[in-house]
Amino acid sequence: MIESHDSVWQNCLSTIKENVPDSSFNTWFKPIKPIKYDSNTLTIQVPNRFFYDYIEAHFINILKKTIYQVLGPKGQLSYKIVVDNTQATKAKESFSSKDIKNPFVIPGLKKVKFDSNLIEKYTFENYVEGDCNKLGRSAGISVSQKPGKTAFNPLVIFGDVGLGKTHLAHAIGNAIIKENGDQNVVYLTTETFTSQIVTAIRKGSIEELINFYHMIDTLIIDDIQFLSGREKTQDIFFNIFNQLQQSNKQIILTSDRAPKDLVGVNDRLISRFKWGLTADLKSPDFETRLAIMQEKIGPDAERIPSNVMDYICFNIKKNIRELEGVIISLLAQANLNNRNIDIDLAKEVIQKFVTQDNKGISVENIAKLVAEHFQVPVETLSSKTRKRDIVIARQLSMYLAKNYTEDSLKSIGANFGGKDHSTVIYSINTVRDLIDTDTIFKDLVSELEKKVEMSLIN
Ligand code: ADP
Ligand code: MG
Repeated sequence: MIESHDSVWQNCLSTIKENVPDSSFNTWFKPIKPIKYDSNTLTIQVPNRFFYDYIEAHFINILKKTIYQVLGPKGQLSYKIVVDNTQATKAKESFSSKDIKNPFVIPGLKKVKFDSNLIEKYTFENYVEGDCNKLGRSAGISVSQKPGKTAFNPLVIFGDVGLGKTHLAHAIGNAIIKENGDQNVVYLTTETFTSQIVTAIRKGSIEELINFYHMIDTLIIDDIQFLSGREKTQDIFFNIFNQLQQSNKQIILTSDRAPKDLVGVNDRLISRFKWGLTADLKSPDFETRLAIMQEKIGPDAERIPSNVMDYICFNIKKNIRELEGVIISLLAQANLNNRNIDIDLAKEVIQKFVTQDNKGISVENIAKLVAEHFQVPVETLSSKTRKRDIVIARQLSMYLAKNYTEDSLKSIGANFGGKDHSTVIYSINTVRDLIDTDTIFKDLVSELEKKVEMSLIN
């Protein structure tokens, strides 16, 4: 029987899955595509060189074992890093075959084309224009027509949560690719960007990571406020930023605050952010909220009487994601409980959302939950003790407080024995790094997050 590359790879994946943590499996193996299986050789395609290096460094033994098990002693694995013929020279410079030190075959590396990570559904066509987003939207359209060639470089989009930054950033990326499929557009959250850097530092492969970024035509980084306090990441970003700028590549950044208000971000980086255009997204007015909801809900919107739609759009002003949530939940309630869609039902649904919002959770309650979990007296979290489990519990509490309350870093610090804001940032980053590197810790954080969320509902 001749086996297809898909089924061979599926068999490999089952073995790999048993041997690596889920998070690694999802990050490093799910994105791989099998492309060929011929004379005992399975060819798989990886999104980029960095990916290939990482797999080679971390999973080579598992891969060898798997190939042996699935394909037998003659089995071979060959990698392909996505190829495009148009820019042969560019890629040759970065990847000469001499620095490939593995036993496997890497066929003709020409232009490396990266996975863009763009979400296709976020486009300009469904990004409703209003006074609140006119500047950002039109700057975005200009950038998408001439990436790297307008004065809007970097384009920094900032605004409160739920106002459409991520949507706009993806819309620009999607429009660039639609116009010119050869462009390497890469979208990353700041979290992913940072964890790539952390990994590269650990592996000593920063140079290669930087090379990888130099091959990008448009780099989109979402939520750069999370660069706060991460000095090494900022240094490397500064380097990448300058290189891209000098070669007229486009940079698009989003942030929940204006560049000048980015706490814990290096001044030289902030001054770079100000070079291009900073466009803020404001809360949409009533008419725009209505138009966005019509666009979002599509034909279902017709099931909602116009006075009810008005009522909801009138009452939820600040966050489009929340507005969407209310309408979806309204439709669900009507379906599940056979209710009429009327103002009464709308009131109920909004109340659920709004009371949850007002009630929220306080830093004190978070500290209590965490202390309970660690079975330590809550007072120890604000004491000076440096016992390891207390330190971790304290750092975790700060991390959760940052994510689940509106409190400033300063006021969070005040709850834990008067720590200053840089200590809070340091704690939050420590937790993030541990989440990235330690799966048991990651599970612990999820469990605590569930507890916090439960306490929001009850
Ligand atoms: P942010 O990144 O600023 O937190 P998002 O981009 O995730 O916000 O937007 C939240 C939701 O609101 C998304 O579903 C997005 O599609 C929608 N949205 C925001 N602004 C608009 C708009 N102008 N037109 C259509 N949908 C929008
Ligand atoms: Mg976002």
